Amino acid sequence: EFRAIVVDRTEDESGKRTQSAALTTVTDDILMDGDVTVAVEFSSINYKDGLALMGRPGVARVWPLIAGIDLVGTVESSNDPRWSAGDRVILNGSGIGESHHGGLAERARISGASLVRLPEALSPVRAAAIGTAGFTAMLAVLALERGGVLPGSGDVLVTGAAGGVGSVAIALLAARGYRVVASTGRGDELGDYLRGLGAAEILDRNTLGEPGKPLQTQRWAGAVDSVGSHTLANVLAQTHQGGVVASCGLAQGADLPTTVMPFILRAVTLAGINSVEAPLALREEAWGRLATDLDLGLLDGLTEVIALDESFAAAERILAGRIHGRTVVDVTR
Ligand code: NAP
Repeated sequence: EFRAIVVDRTEDESGKRTQSAALTTVTDDILMDGDVTVAVEFSSINYKDGLALMGRPGVARVWPLIAGIDLVGTVESSNDPRWSAGDRVILNGSGIGESHHGGLAERARISGASLVRLPEALSPVRAAAIGTAGFTAMLAVLALERGGVLPGSGDVLVTGAAGGVGSVAIALLAARGYRVVASTGRGDELGDYLRGLGAAEILDRNTLGEPGKPLQTQRWAGAVDSVGSHTLANVLAQTHQGGVVASCGLAQGADLPTTVMPFILRAVTLAGINSVEAPLALREEAWGRLATDLDLGLLDGLTEVIALDESFAAAERILAGRIHGRTVVDVTR
């Protein structure tokens, strides 16, 4: 027997579907196919986990489903030759917490194919603090680098700055020497927090959130965007000739009311970031860079650790936009 947060969906006579999540005790019978069994130590609360835990549609695609898009733990047994009992492993995305049971449980059975070995420099709790959000931020930074956006290129904008992806992106970029501008709706409350992560300047997110002209004054050598919608359209319109914008999220909306002008007149690149399907080589590269680039003191400062049964309150807070930084779940308590 082990504890797990299970998302279930019921349908009444009229066909109306209701989804809900609860902390329950389950047996190994619930486990899905996989060649590696892991004693999970930590998971985390990402925006997607917030949706799943609060019964919102769009994340869970099978039912019943153990929630949690991240896990860090120790291999108990493995039929995958890459892994053996005692190995410390990380898994982000790859369908866990969506179509395969996830990390908000004391045990997981998963495919070894997308597992990444816990880097020496990182403890399990820190790897969970990085989690999908930090991994995504690293993928975005790699996309900027690959597009030729370097510390000397000019200011780099991070939107959704106080969120999980935004917070880690600021820390990573500042550590590499970029001048980072942080766009947030919480500058009054969290300005010191964002400057502590390395932001050189704070921008009120309202200045980016309304419809704007297709081409605006060039301000950004690159950007890491968690917000989408009008914000992303304005960011594209303000990006330098040859700049790169990494599109990570949709906190404002999934729409993108833009024109082709930034692309055809300024050769701006819009780089898509997908942490869920990232191939193994990219996962390993990103985790290697996280282990060397991220200031662990800063990471600890942006992390809150909670118990498994506190996940629901954290889910409510992340959906309400009241969490900043990262929330780790210690699934053993
Ligand atoms: P999070 O911690 O909730 O952060 C989102 C941040 O966006 C909030 O902290 C807030 O920042 C800002 N925000 C919220 N509502 C907004 C609005 N209406 N308009 C403008 N800004 C708004 O979530 P996260 O885990 O960092 O994830 C961020 C986004 O990336 C989510 O959309 C998530 O689904 C997506 N994501 C995608 C991938 C991928 O693989 N592509 C991976 C992870 C996450 P301020 O308070 O600073 O304004």
